[in-house]
Amino acid sequence: MICQYCDFVKSGEGLVYEDGTAAILLHKSPAMPGHLLVLPKEHFTIIEQTPDPVVRKLAALANKASASLLQVLGAGGTNVVIENGTGAQQQVPHLAINVIPRVEGDGINLQWQPRKLSEEQMSLIELQLKEQTKNLGVEAEKKEPIKLDDEREKARGEVVKKSDYLTKQLRRMP
Ligand SMILES: [Zn+2]
Repeated sequence: MICQYCDFVKSGEGLVYEDGTAAILLHKSPAMPGHLLVLPKEHFTIIEQTPDPVVRKLAALANKASASLLQVLGAGGTNVVIENGTGAQQQVPHLAINVIPRVEGDGINLQWQPRKLSEEQMSLIELQLKEQTKNLGVEAEKKEPIKLDDEREKARGEVVKKSDYLTKQLRRMP
């Protein structure tokens, strides 16, 4: 399987840090100088497929990567973002946490327009999510991908199958 991020990790291109589990790469088409990608060395497409110990490791590294950007680049803050799945505009089918250094007036816009929901809509979604998440804290660690419903399953299949992802990403490169 061809995967851009697996290739970068193997070649050491733009590699800032690595250990047995994870790597930190400089983004090839950065939103800002110092835009980092924290990713598992093993190929996982989305976070739901990634074992919990690996997720923990990535989160801890993203935290440290962020601290490094504040210290080294004097960033005023960072955005820590995952594009998780095709529905979230994921471009490369390999899980990565973006850590983007921010300075005032940098022109990056990650804001969304707040939506007005009715009380009924809010209560319904709250009920549904409470029911779905009530045992999250006591469930065993995930060692296998979480079973997704049909729609998400389809979306995930698309991430894996869509070979034009790579070409799209390459076209965007300078
Ligand atoms: Zn990969």
